[in-house]
Amino acid sequence: MKTYNHFINGVSTQPSAGEYFNTENPYTGEIWAKVARGDANDIDKAVNIAHAAFEGDWSQVKATERGKLLTHLATLIERDCVRLGELEVKDNGKLIAEMGAQTKYLAEWYRYFGGLADKIEGAVIPSDKPGIFNFTRYEPLGVIGMITAWNSPLLLLAWKLAPALAAGNTAVIKPSEYTSVSSLEFMNLFNEAGFPPGVVNCVAGYGVEVGQPLVDHPLTAKIAFTGSDGAGQKIYERAARKIMPVTLELGGKSPNIVFEDSDIDAAVMGVISGIFAATGQTCIAGSRLLVHQSIHDNFVDKIVKVAKQAKIGDPMLADTNIGPVTTEPQYKKILNYIEIAKRDGAKCVLGGKPHDGPGVKGNRFVEPTIFTGVKNNMRIAQEEVFGPILSVIPFKSEEEAIAIGNDIIFGLAAGVWTNDIGRALRMSEKLKAGTVWVNTYRAVSFSSPFGGFKRSGQGRESGQTSIKEFLQLKSVWIAQKTSTANPFIMR
Ligand code: NAD
Repeated sequence: MKTYNHFINGVSTQPSAGEYFNTENPYTGEIWAKVARGDANDIDKAVNIAHAAFEGDWSQVKATERGKLLTHLATLIERDCVRLGELEVKDNGKLIAEMGAQTKYLAEWYRYFGGLADKIEGAVIPSDKPGIFNFTRYEPLGVIGMITAWNSPLLLLAWKLAPALAAGNTAVIKPSEYTSVSSLEFMNLFNEAGFPPGVVNCVAGYGVEVGQPLVDHPLTAKIAFTGSDGAGQKIYERAARKIMPVTLELGGKSPNIVFEDSDIDAAVMGVISGIFAATGQTCIAGSRLLVHQSIHDNFVDKIVKVAKQAKIGDPMLADTNIGPVTTEPQYKKILNYIEIAKRDGAKCVLGGKPHDGPGVKGNRFVEPTIFTGVKNNMRIAQEEVFGPILSVIPFKSEEEAIAIGNDIIFGLAAGVWTNDIGRALRMSEKLKAGTVWVNTYRAVSFSSPFGGFKRSGQGRESGQTSIKEFLQLKSVWIAQKTSTANPFIMR
């Protein structure tokens, strides 16, 4: 069994308390690695190292050089993407088809933000003060604490790390306790790419034992977080004590809205991809299907037919469609929500129970599940399940679809299926979500901003503007000649 230590100051570092926890393969149930169990001492060490690097070596690296380092890192990621993708699957049980593509694609974030590193420009302000020159400069914040969820560890990290490093910050990363290995393995590439030691550090462990001290540390300048809204709220509250900025990428309960005028077969595939891809363990899951009442029964028949054919089993096989649930608590949570939905009067038309059968190891599979007769005020429609459970809600008009779509505390994403361009524009304007997809679903890119409205988050990741999340603006005033004006009044 392999042992993984923290990565601090460019070297593998044993946990200060000498403790380790097990990491498990969600498909086989096998414990396959031991991971350092960090604590506040490890965080103190890592943050101090990252701060010293920020003030020292890293501050001497010019923006163009930072960009070249990130671009070099991107080529190393491409070289290693198969190995990294397999590690992700071993740790989080998601499909190799998805994780392999994801680890390859994440190189693009480092390349894109590498290109942006030397294009961060302030402005010369047309000053109204005679003889005073005024300009602005963007400056990095310092040590960024990055806390990530278990569902896509390296991709969620890239969304934070690439812009943060391009902007000149340093980092201390806290991956999920369920999926720490890929992030710890990834750290070795920073040495190979030529980053100075201490610029990027990773401390593994539990949320309260490692994440919280990282938030509280006086030298942590910002937290970039991806996870549940509950943990996000706790982090936000603690950050407020320090008046520290945060970006929060939180959960969702996204509506996928199908109109009668859409290309129905394409919409069926979009709805399936929205809820059953990644076994529903994705923040952008289209977990509420809003379907026009005139096509409701026919549409439900079609999605049931396609979902029934999904191949459930080994996530390492290229043709598997649905893999295991990543964690035991998550598995229990999904089954509990199935019971809640049934108790509240929803009708289960597909699945609704654990899955067992040929090609299935372990005991953490849930059948793709579809509920009809769902009212939007039921818990199954209002709360994030994070599993392969679809709630179907009929609507009568565009106005009603908007009202139901927006009647939720979350606002991460929404899907719209229609062939009417006017309707597409109206819906994309009226839906209160950070991302609206029309006639597609689950599209993300390094070049497009991503983030949540309402309780789904704060700030944006990806796209040019997201680099500003890791910068602060300074205004500089330079008098062209010294003045003896009255010192008791404002200049
Ligand atoms: P989680 O909130 O339980 O944990 C996320 C991370 O926060 C982990 O590393 C955990 O150890 C840490 N953590 C937990 N409590 C903490 C605390 N008090 N202080 C500091 N750190 C703490 O979430 P999860 O179960 O790992 O991930 C699933 C959730 O993530 C879902 O809600 C999903 O929607 C969300 N998510 C959001 C996005 C997005 O981009 N919006 C992407 C992926 C996942």
